[in-house]
Amino acid sequence: MNKKRYAVVVDLRLCKKCGICSFICPKDVFSTYGDVINSTECSGCKQCEIYCPDFAVEVIKITEEE
Ligand code: SF4
Ligand code: SF4
Repeated sequence: MNKKRYAVVVDLRLCKKCGICSFICPKDVFSTYGDVINSTECSGCKQCEIYCPDFAVEVIKITEEE
């Protein structure tokens, strides 16, 4: 069986530290100002990608063999 994991990457050239991703993320992956602090909890919902006004977030699926 495959286990889904996600890498959450913020492009620091685009991020304005607005904190919207932190507000929107249901898994507390981001610090208050958009630093990725807890990517292992990411569920892959992509709300951060959708709501980031600067298109700075990318959520990448990583599939691991168990
Ligand atoms: S929503 Fe986007 S611009 Fe705002 S802090 Fe998060 S990554 Fe940065
Ligand atoms: S994809 Fe969802 S769970 Fe993962 S960091 Fe973005 S908002 Fe949080």
